[in-house]
Amino acid sequence: MALMLITHDLGVIAEIADRVMVLYAGRVAETAAVETLFDAPAHPYSQALLASIPNLAMRRDRLATIDGAVPTVGAMPAGCRFAPRCAHRRDACVATPPRMRLLSPQHGVACVKPYAAAPAARVTPEFAR
Ligand code: SF4
Repeated sequence: MALMLITHDLGVIAEIADRVMVLYAGRVAETAAVETLFDAPAHPYSQALLASIPNLAMRRDRLATIDGAVPTVGAMPAGCRFAPRCAHRRDACVATPPRMRLLSPQHGVACVKPYAAAPAARVTPEFAR
């Protein structure tokens, strides 16, 4: 039996999920086993989400946030939908949506960034859609 849970609560995800699919503006940004996602997030949006989790052990003046806002339905960017908010954005990000690629058999990332030095990355039919 499988259960799909849709939530913004990363604590709930950490406690009960086996696999995680991170969505941004209606597209899959990253999918991985929960341990992989929390230990080694590859997509800049996943990284920013995890960096924004409050940590009581760390003293800070302000919580980390992601600059900008989610695009509106009628004004989605043509390329990567996270591009207007991404600190790693480059020319290749804004023209066409990044394809989902595999960092490992169970870890997919829709981002050009992790692949600059990974020519062996392959795309499976499941993720190529
Ligand atoms: S594809 Fe480009 S803009 Fe989108 S998350 Fe990756 S580096 Fe950032």
